[in-house]
Amino acid sequence: MVSVFDIFKIGIGPSSSHTVGPMVAAGRFLTRLERLGLTGKISRVRATLYGSLAFTGRGHGTDRAILLGLTGEKPAEIDPAAIGQIVEAIKAAGALKLGGLRKIPFDLAADIILDFNTPSPGHPNGMRLEAFDADGAELSNRVYFSVGGGFVVSEDQYRSSQPAGGSIEQRMVAFPFRNAKALLNICKGEGKSIAEIALANERSLRTPEAVDAGLDTIIAAMMACIDRGLTVDGTLPGGLKVRRRAKALFEKAVADQSKNLTYPHQAFDRVSAFAIAVNEENAAGGRVVTSPTNGAAGVTPAVLRYYRDLCPGADRGGMHKFMLTAATFGAIIKYNASLSGAEVGCQGEVGSASAMAAAGLCAALGGSNEQIENAAEIALEHHLGMTCDPVGGLVQVPCIERNALGAVKAITAASLALAGDGEHIVFFDTCVETMRQTGLDMQTKYKETSEGGLAVNVSVSVVEC
Ligand code: SF4
Repeated sequence: MVSVFDIFKIGIGPSSSHTVGPMVAAGRFLTRLERLGLTGKISRVRATLYGSLAFTGRGHGTDRAILLGLTGEKPAEIDPAAIGQIVEAIKAAGALKLGGLRKIPFDLAADIILDFNTPSPGHPNGMRLEAFDADGAELSNRVYFSVGGGFVVSEDQYRSSQPAGGSIEQRMVAFPFRNAKALLNICKGEGKSIAEIALANERSLRTPEAVDAGLDTIIAAMMACIDRGLTVDGTLPGGLKVRRRAKALFEKAVADQSKNLTYPHQAFDRVSAFAIAVNEENAAGGRVVTSPTNGAAGVTPAVLRYYRDLCPGADRGGMHKFMLTAATFGAIIKYNASLSGAEVGCQGEVGSASAMAAAGLCAALGGSNEQIENAAEIALEHHLGMTCDPVGGLVQVPCIERNALGAVKAITAASLALAGDGEHIVFFDTCVETMRQTGLDMQTKYKETSEGGLAVNVSVSVVEC
């Protein structure tokens, strides 16, 4: 079972697989060293990045993330505003405090290697962490894979017979299911909604109070991210000189509201502004919620905010229903295909996010289980084949705008599903399997390597900063 709190995790930008995951992996390596009683003997730590982590690691802040993870920092706890200072201090000192305790020499350029030649030994987001003693003898090494959405698995876990998308922890829950078909059968048999089944499963793992409080915390973090993004302008870091535009877009949408001459479609400008606000915060390395990844972090919060602010009758219960339902569809995709752009392209990131948000909105607006499944399917179907080709290896172009489109598609999908009776030709599970197969057929250059698509056709010179 993949919990709502696995799908929605508080972290930092700009990437769940390239920033959050590597930071988590470095933390897990530290824990391993402690468990083996090696921490006191370590004089040097080296990280080697493979595949997509090597190709787009710098733009995604992977090197900084590993460095922070080695110092004991955690994605959900670190103050995004302090990151620059911490990294500069380590660079200046040529040393870091392993686990926040023991000072060892560390040279960012020499101790974090981007290996462009060796293929990743498994999932495309691979990294090897090694620890050495004072004589240069290796004391421990571990390969980890960042499999999308901030999920990290060791090489052993990845190679064990797990479903697509890497390891999924086995948990005892009230209503286990692997796909939408099984889920709908359970709902029918129990006479419950998808959100009620999801809630019962969450309550198998946590108290009802903890589930409610956890959902409130995640929702608050999403709303805070939108609020921050709507108040900041200027230029995003990374060298592409992308101007932040959520603030101006939102202010214009609010100002136009009082005029008689606005077009109906301008209502979508607010939704776009919500999504863009989140992804601008993400691109700036701010606090975001992986939903289900950082690159796609704007879609679900934008649609949730649309529900909260613009749909009559919206309330806390509806928001919880939204989140539980959205996470359920994200979990089904993770279990049967992938949420990783490095594995299946952007269809697995923004496509999955759009399906999740469509399902969530449909549920919050009173859709039947069949209509909810239909909403998720519509949104995912119309992202099939979408490649990942971030310009300059940064999660900015096309990612930021793509989230706005993903949110608008989610709302349209929910509306189309609500207008029908739930009957449709393509079932959600078929669509997920199609996404998996399409991802397998997709050339590697379209999977978060920045070696194809827009990344090679948009001529920019990215200035490292
Ligand atoms: S193009 Fe899509 S999958 Fe690729 S980095 Fe951007 S949001 Fe993520």
